[in-house]
Amino acid sequence: MKQESLESYRKKRDFSITSEPQGKIDYPDELISDKQIFVVQKHASRNLHYDLRLEVGGILRSWAVPKGPSLNPKDKRLAIATEDHPLEYARFEGTIPKGQYGAGTVIVWDMGTYRNMTMKDGQVIDINQALNNGHTSIWLEGKKLKGGYAITRTGRGWILVKMRDENVDETQDILKADPRSALSGRTIGELAEN
Ligand code: MN
Repeated sequence: MKQESLESYRKKRDFSITSEPQGKIDYPDELISDKQIFVVQKHASRNLHYDLRLEVGGILRSWAVPKGPSLNPKDKRLAIATEDHPLEYARFEGTIPKGQYGAGTVIVWDMGTYRNMTMKDGQVIDINQALNNGHTSIWLEGKKLKGGYAITRTGRGWILVKMRDENVDETQDILKADPRSALSGRTIGELAEN
């Protein structure tokens, strides 16, 4: 099932040209931890955007967020669901060559773990089920993003919103305040030069 869900990812890319991971590792279910990883990649393709990816069942469920995540609960950020990515993609930084799918430079803007806290009638709903139902609440423990976020499917795409907790900051734009990679410390521009 995990490998099947990467079919679309692989079809879009020529791995003899791009340095993105093919996703060879199909982790056995028993090795998948309950602390799951998340990553936000900053991607300077035709349009600069941020890609939110959540580890779910051995792959990365993915959304392109044109305006990026926010620390302000008033910001409702459109998140466009994209194809599942392999787990190894969470550490991918580099420049996808011209002419390839998603051509442009990628940095790991934020990374960490998350906990699913989607509840219904006092019960935690499995993350996969929650996403299929069109609503999930997650708690991020990233280097930059922390606390609760809600991801909800609407008629015109998904919406990513910061939930109200001690991590709210309505005064600063974290995307501008902290533009560097959480993995390498580099900016998009610095990585693109190499
Ligand atoms: Mn992207």
